[in-house]
Amino acid sequence: MNIPQSSFPRVVIIGGGFAGIALAKKLSKKEVQVVLIDKHNYHAFQPLLYQVSTGGLEPDSIAYPIRKILKDFPNFFFRLAKVEEIRTEGHLVLTNIGNIAYDYLVMATGAETNYYGNTEIETNSMAMKSIPQSLNLRSLILENFEQALLTDQYHERDALMNFVIVGAGPTGVELAGALAEIKKGILPKDYPDLDTRRVQINLIQSGDRILKEMSVQASEKAEGFLEGLGVQIWKNMRVTGFNGKTVTTNTGESFETATLVWAAGVKGVGVKGLDAKELLVGGNRLKVNTYNQVIGHNNIFAIGDVACMQTKEAPNGHPMMAQPAMQQGKQLGENLVALLENKPLKPFRYKDKGSMATVGRNKAVVDMENFKFQGVFAWYVWMFVHLFFLIGFRNRMVVFVNWVYNYVRFDREARLIIRPFNKDYKMFKD
Ligand SMILES: Cc1cc2nc3c(=O)[nH]c(=O)nc-3n(C[C@H](O)[C@H](O)[C@H](O)COP(=O)(O)OP(=O)(O)OC[C@H]3O[C@@H](n4cnc5c(N)ncnc54)[C@H](O)[C@@H]3O)c2cc1C
Repeated sequence: MNIPQSSFPRVVIIGGGFAGIALAKKLSKKEVQVVLIDKHNYHAFQPLLYQVSTGGLEPDSIAYPIRKILKDFPNFFFRLAKVEEIRTEGHLVLTNIGNIAYDYLVMATGAETNYYGNTEIETNSMAMKSIPQSLNLRSLILENFEQALLTDQYHERDALMNFVIVGAGPTGVELAGALAEIKKGILPKDYPDLDTRRVQINLIQSGDRILKEMSVQASEKAEGFLEGLGVQIWKNMRVTGFNGKTVTTNTGESFETATLVWAAGVKGVGVKGLDAKELLVGGNRLKVNTYNQVIGHNNIFAIGDVACMQTKEAPNGHPMMAQPAMQQGKQLGENLVALLENKPLKPFRYKDKGSMATVGRNKAVVDMENFKFQGVFAWYVWMFVHLFFLIGFRNRMVVFVNWVYNYVRFDREARLIIRPFNKDYKMFKD
């Protein structure tokens, strides 16, 4: 990898997401050599992926070059590479561009979509965990309408204009709300020769309420917002299959659609060599102690979505969200320095700053420890928080200007098919 030997111990971090970047920043001026490896050369702000998928933001405004974040840090090296294996006995990381030895290894590889072993759904559905996937979805949504214009078959046209979203967590709810706004504000103008009143947005949830990680108050309010926008919500329903044409469910209900978005689960991104059964807990996450140390490995740590720290307060690990990831990254930075200085380590304590979701213009729900609120004020808070956590002044400005423009003009101008997504439209012909 062409990284010089150093007299300082080497910390190899895999993953430049919220957790990996927070850790690297914390180690920036310490006596360690930091090597950050990521398969992308950018940090992606995942909470705004749904806006890329629905043409509200350009992908560049929610991505930021990792090299730029860490450019002023001495002893810092970035390598664009996919990590393929960890050799724990030799303290070695194997990647597609070569190998690197570590003194300390930190797994910050995040999470990926969990299909719970259903390969049919995995093959035929759309996911929204990365910028390329969001661009695929954006293209598919727009291609569907272009295709709907060309067919004289009613059932085919309806299927092309039927969007089925599985999973009513923040991702599913935000996507459903955005699609409903597009239906109302944009489609009638863009496609005057198409009966866009027939567009359907179906949101399916296996449990008995949407946004189940939030308060009942937030769930009920969000449900009301979505129904007001015309989203059809299906609760206590489990999707069992999707052959690219028909969605089947455990209740017997089925949906003809060209687009199934799977937002119903995530699991940790594992790497060969650290995938033994005893190291993993529910959802493929690495079992860690309160210092984020991977069980049985003194010099290997895991932080963020891929780490599962089971405590009394969080028996299933902390939520797979940005806040725990950032807080663990910062805390591990302090602990690694303490470890090198032979000082005692501090156990991680999660400070829950609350959670929020937006449904659309002037509509959001916010849960804080002692204060829950919904509606316009919640929407402003949602926007402020997302702008605050976006990395880069330019990105904040671009997103802010886009939001103001979209708000004033009722528009989403990034509805572009830059990179067509190849869906086989012949599927409705048989
Ligand atoms: C659509 C969506 C909406 C979300 N909305 C919210 C929200 O509103 N609020 C909230 O708090 N959280 C939200 N989240 C969750 C939040 O984004 C994650 O919890 C957070 O990104 C976790 O940070 P992380 O550093 O653990 O992982 P990530 O940010 O996922 O970073 C992992 C990094 O590891 C890299 N990587 C993985 N495997 C390899 C490999 N083998 N080799 C090299 N590099 C690798 C990836 O490229 C990536 O850069 C959302 C997530 C999604 C997908």
